[in-house]
Amino acid sequence: MSIGGNVARRSELARTGGRNTISGAFVDGAEHRNAGDPLPVTNPADGQVFADVAGGTAADVDAAVQSARRAFAEWSSLAVSKRGEILGAAAHHVEQHLDELIPLLTREQGKTLRDSRIELTKAIDTLMHYVGLSKALRGTHTPNLDPGVEGYVLRRPLGVVGAIVPWNFPTTLLSNKLAPALVTGNTVVAKPAGTTPLTTLRFAELLHDGGLPAGVFNVVTGSGPTTGTALATHPDVRKIAFTGSTPVGEQIMALCARGIKRVTLELGGSDPMIICDDADLAAAASAASMGRYYNCGQACLAIKRVYVFESVADEVVEAITAKAKRLKVGRGDAEGSQMGPLHTAAQREEVAGQVDRTLAMGGRLAAGGGPPDDAGLAGGFFYLPTVVVDPPHDAPMATEEVFGPALPIWRVRDFDEAIERANASRFGLGSSVWTRDLRRARQAAERIEAGYTWINSRTKVYDELPFGGWKSSGYGKEHGEEAFDYYTDSKSVVVGS
Ligand code: NAD
Repeated sequence: MSIGGNVARRSELARTGGRNTISGAFVDGAEHRNAGDPLPVTNPADGQVFADVAGGTAADVDAAVQSARRAFAEWSSLAVSKRGEILGAAAHHVEQHLDELIPLLTREQGKTLRDSRIELTKAIDTLMHYVGLSKALRGTHTPNLDPGVEGYVLRRPLGVVGAIVPWNFPTTLLSNKLAPALVTGNTVVAKPAGTTPLTTLRFAELLHDGGLPAGVFNVVTGSGPTTGTALATHPDVRKIAFTGSTPVGEQIMALCARGIKRVTLELGGSDPMIICDDADLAAAASAASMGRYYNCGQACLAIKRVYVFESVADEVVEAITAKAKRLKVGRGDAEGSQMGPLHTAAQREEVAGQVDRTLAMGGRLAAGGGPPDDAGLAGGFFYLPTVVVDPPHDAPMATEEVFGPALPIWRVRDFDEAIERANASRFGLGSSVWTRDLRRARQAAERIEAGYTWINSRTKVYDELPFGGWKSSGYGKEHGEEAFDYYTDSKSVVVGS
């Protein structure tokens, strides 16, 4: 069955069991039929393919880039507050269709309906945050550079921005790029992950129906090596905003070297959590559980390593293990499910392999360690919330990014050892510390090598604060006013008398 882009029929995808074919691109404010091979979209809860999306070719990417180019002149010449006003109205229109988007996101991504609602609400919040900032943009002026000479700094949009997005949070990670890019006057071509194209296509359609002009935001679906590479190498794309794995981020950075394309990279993480002996242990255990198992552990900012002081370790391990065993694993669309499946069979295999290879080297399995024993879930990509205690520090769960619901916990002697272990990673995305000692908390913030440190707080990202990794976790910032710097070029202007 082939369906067009009309609202009612596409939304049926969220409910029907039929397998549909989608044209795979949204260009110039309308559905565009991609020329590439179809990509199957699978429901992670049962392993069933329910849609085929035509993949994009280099020619499809070019069509989208040209659409964005055509739209750029008019969009960038609007008053910044007008751009904000248009984006705000469009975001409001998306919000009115949340009940349609939530099941669609759950069906293609696997997350629970509750988590889909949280994600989509956050995606809209981020758009609205930048709508608000569009009224607050201010410049700089420097008087008396020399007698009678003054200076100021101009900021100009870059042009066409390519946004390459992964499958774990298809809409929030898109909004993080779209909002600052559009408010500053750029136009955008987005490429969602090959396995989560549907919500993004519908999101784009709704923004357009809500008043975003044709060509300002375009989507081309397809595989990374084909569509993603075509976008990163297109000579008319001035910047790539990428979120994904570190190895692909390295490739993108190399591709962007040609023509000195601007690039921001939000990459992998292996976030450490330090629990000191004076912490609120119950709160810390809750934060660890939430931080590791939320979205089935598939978050860049998930808590991926816990270091706990020896004297309180047994209590903390027991509390986290009890929570892991209590979590209700089930289909994302089933009532009461607290954790859905992993996104793909390959993702489950990778996580299971990391746990198995770690346990073969040492450590104690305290919870999980395999798929649930429930015949009703056998077709999906489920894996139990897992806890491994004191594995060797060179085991895969310590050195690799574990992108699934498996948490290693280590005992440490003291604060210095905790910091040393936390920093013994090539990643530097997020981190957290739990202590009632202000001096220790401030030292942790000072000494941990990461772009975010939460102190006695769960790992939530705020639109108000800049976000971006250190070391192999990325380059550049999203969120905060700082994001504007990455979607504009600046020019210093000197005015004589
Ligand atoms: P991935 O790198 O495989 O894919 C991300 C995107 O890049 C997808 O759209 C994919 O199609 C595209 N892509 C793949 N190969 C490409 C290529 N050769 N050229 C151009 N594009 C290509 O990542 P993933 O497995 O989809 O996502 C999980 C990873 O993303 C994890 O490492 C996670 O930590 C990271 N992540 C980081 C953040 C952050 O903000 N730092 C947020 C979420 C996820």
